[in-house]
Amino acid sequence: NVPNTPCVFLGCLDPEKFKDFKLVKRTQLSHNVAKFKFALPTPTSVLGLPIGQHISCRGKDSLNEDVVKPYTPTTLDSDVGYFELVIKMYPQGRMSQHFQVMCEGDYLAVKGPK
Ligand SMILES: Cc1cc2nc3c(=O)[nH]c(=O)nc-3n(C[C@H](O)[C@H](O)[C@H](O)COP(=O)(O)OP(=O)(O)OC[C@H]3O[C@@H](n4cnc5c(N)ncnc54)[C@H](O)[C@@H]3O)c2cc1C
Repeated sequence: NVPNTPCVFLGCLDPEKFKDFKLVKRTQLSHNVAKFKFALPTPTSVLGLPIGQHISCRGKDSLNEDVVKPYTPTTLDSDVGYFELVIKMYPQGRMSQHFQVMCEGDYLAVKGPK
């Protein structure tokens, strides 16, 4: 991406650098699965993730150490302005722990496409 260029056509991801996306809605789907909806910078932005590719998400584990894991959004680039992740949370999972404690308004560091 060219710096400061709206990611309407190019997509919002940077394969080299983590970018922060705001959690705007968290929906519990079962006892250990939740859907996380993240806002893109503008309502007309697209994530820019080709089908079959995934993103890297960075968080902190219970020891406050960085952890990076791959995830596949359940949304497509035809879903403008946001993307969603459906996450299964494991009791001792390092990245799961990060998602477990995320609240609406928090930011997630994301890099991609991978
Ligand atoms: C391309 C790709 C896309 C993915 N997309 C998604 C997605 O959309 N949604 C999703 O939920 N996941 C997805 N995953 C899986 C995701 O990347 C993580 O592996 C998952 O979230 C678990 O990570 P974690 O750090 O929470 O758990 P980990 O810390 O890796 O632990 C997972 C489980 O193993 C147990 N465990 C860990 N170490 C040990 C040990 N030494 N002995 C015994 N048990 C142990 C933990 O207690 C826990 O129950 C995807 C993976 C890939 C490769």
